[in-house]
Amino acid sequence: MTERTEPEAASGVGEPYFVRSPDAPARQSAASTPPTASCGALLNLIRSSPGLTRQQLLASTGMSRTTLFERLEVLFQHGYVYQDGSAPRDEVRGRGRRSELLRWDTRGRVVLVLDLGQTHARICVTTVDGQILRMRDLAVDIDTAAPDYLSAIYEVAGLLVRVGEDETLIGVALGIPGPVDPATGRLGTSTTMPQWQGYEVLQDLRDHWAVPAVIENDARALALGESSVIGAGQSVVAVKYATGIGAGIVDNGHLLEGADGAAGDIGHVRISDDGPLCTCGRHGCLAAWASGHALVRRLAGTGVRNLRDVVDRVAADDPAVVAAVDEATARLSRVLATVVAATNPDVLVLGGPLGRMPRVVASIDTRIREDVTERARHHLTISAAHLGADGATVGLARTIVNLVYDPAAIDAKIQASTPQKLGS
Ligand SMILES: [Zn+2]
Repeated sequence: MTERTEPEAASGVGEPYFVRSPDAPARQSAASTPPTASCGALLNLIRSSPGLTRQQLLASTGMSRTTLFERLEVLFQHGYVYQDGSAPRDEVRGRGRRSELLRWDTRGRVVLVLDLGQTHARICVTTVDGQILRMRDLAVDIDTAAPDYLSAIYEVAGLLVRVGEDETLIGVALGIPGPVDPATGRLGTSTTMPQWQGYEVLQDLRDHWAVPAVIENDARALALGESSVIGAGQSVVAVKYATGIGAGIVDNGHLLEGADGAAGDIGHVRISDDGPLCTCGRHGCLAAWASGHALVRRLAGTGVRNLRDVVDRVAADDPAVVAAVDEATARLSRVLATVVAATNPDVLVLGGPLGRMPRVVASIDTRIREDVTERARHHLTISAAHLGADGATVGLARTIVNLVYDPAAIDAKIQASTPQKLGS
């Protein structure tokens, strides 16, 4: 594996991508919060509305003062919440009442994000609000036995995680270029990752890092990351156009999974009865015509060795490479037009090194507008990924933080660490 330690120029290292809550935990109103909100539910409220006072929590939950203060005390003791400053005077009700602002305690807490592509892996340590602290990019081959691949990734990740100094690792998220079974959270059947089939990757992550872990498809992670900056109320289709082709669909903050977790898996739609042989064993898949893998193979005779070469040759106006990319983009556009017609998104985001190329974005924009109805394109914006190469990383960080801070998970953790009273 070769290492590249410098982030890409477009990378957002140091920039917080989403402030406070990773997946915008649903803002709860007094009507939706039961009067006996659990510790986990209270923490969710504090996450979604940073800087609440006790008085505001009393008003919004309708809980009794005694119960609320007891539960806040538990959250303080477990380090989930801390007090920070005071509320502006006009927000303070009554004299002599405590008006300290309550904040979700994210200080020193980090997550490890392992974003694996077919030929490239990105390893990041981020804060729980999505700020990338440290990052490594590696050239990899997904066609490697899972234990060998993972141990190489873990070795590099171990150099980035600084547990015991001033950081606490709270979770690890793995993005993969293949399907994830929504029922089990494990790898689905994939022709992209034959060497990983049957391997308990999720358990491997938990055993190695001793924290909660999650696995997500890379294109869906991209959709989650992009939607966090596009806005929760927007419908987003995100396409990862790289070695493979995949898409993720987020509608009004909700990631579409489908019955078998296959929503957005557009790379192996057959677009012709014959055509090139695909890695999945069939002929004529979109990926066989238009993926980065297909392009690199097709252009091998011109000296193109990898995706980076394709991107560089297009930037340099190499006629053979430009023509091949234009043809591939035309085929991809046809499939994306159907996706747009079926989902009517506000935003179609193009990610991955090929998808972010200005020529590809412009071509897909023009073609889709020609192919779909006026109604389907009326509010449609088509753009390169807003987060550059960081979208999947941000989406994966959101996913694991949401899992760790899920109200039921918080309640279970508190329960497990609380000594049971005798006779109870
Ligand atoms: Zn295929």
